[in-house]
Amino acid sequence: MPARLIDGKAAAAHLIDRVSLAVAHLVTEQRLQPGLAVVLVGDDPASEVYVRNKARQTVAAGMRSFEHRLPASTSQAELLALVRRLNADPAVHGILVQLPLPPQLDEGEVIEAIDPAKDVDGFHPINVGRLSIGAPALVPCTPYGCSLLIREVLPEPAGLHAVVVGRSNIVGKPMAQLLLAMHCTVTIAHSRTRDLPAFARSADILVAAVGRPQMVRGDWIKPGACVIDVGINRVPADEPGKTRLVGDVAFAEAVEVAGAITPVPGGVGPMTIACLLRNTVIAACRQHRLPEPADL
Ligand code: NDP
Repeated sequence: MPARLIDGKAAAAHLIDRVSLAVAHLVTEQRLQPGLAVVLVGDDPASEVYVRNKARQTVAAGMRSFEHRLPASTSQAELLALVRRLNADPAVHGILVQLPLPPQLDEGEVIEAIDPAKDVDGFHPINVGRLSIGAPALVPCTPYGCSLLIREVLPEPAGLHAVVVGRSNIVGKPMAQLLLAMHCTVTIAHSRTRDLPAFARSADILVAAVGRPQMVRGDWIKPGACVIDVGINRVPADEPGKTRLVGDVAFAEAVEVAGAITPVPGGVGPMTIACLLRNTVIAACRQHRLPEPADL
């Protein structure tokens, strides 16, 4: 029997509905309108699309959106000065600096300059550390979205073996921390892992965050496993000159073996912005010492 499809679009829409209700409540009961500032340096077309989408969805959820577009020639000092202004601005509860930055800029220094309380990407070392010790943290959006999708199909994942392929700071490592917090037994695999297919085959939960089109084959998957495909890869389509998106998992093969699987597109992707909006509301509540909405 083919795997159950995990519908990230629907899950993201439900989360955004809950975020919008929480925002409406904050505005009417607390006179608090959460605000998200997004900083884009340079004119990378993909980043431009992400930033526009984030701004549109932020406003649609009832929050304030502040967009800061800086030229590709921006200096480190100019970018740090903007981050400091946003740290000090009481209307801004979340700050996101769109990555990657142009090569002359030091990403690590910029991330560390963001007030950890406003770090809605969850990349600041303080939030990374808090996540790892199980303290309240702002958690990176993509892996947090994956954890929500896993819970949809596996409400009680304690004791299951989770294998995360990829160890980036943005996806793989925080994903592994979240799975550990869900009481899974966690293996992190990467480019130096020996016999990756054997590790993958032992996974009850397999998360692929690699960036290699369709690398995970059907015969790498344990029958009935939950497969979360984070990969977004553009490959040539059948029609000449056209491209299409595929994940890191060979979907047509995997869907015949897995118990549940996220499609690409329509799986993990839509959860990322939904979790960013969720993080902004959580950040606003914490900054104002208000209770966090229970359903976020
Ligand atoms: P990175 O390039 O930062 O990390 C890739 C990881 O995969 C590395 O840890 C690397 O190992 C590992 N890897 C590379 N090749 C292999 C291999 N042959 N076997 C095993 N492991 C390998 O990527 P990201 O984590 O940023 O992103 C991963 C994927 O997720 C990409 O396709 C990206 O587009 C997508 N993505 C999707 C998002 C969304 O849905 N919104 C958000 C973020 C990312 P090593 O460390 O040893 O080099």
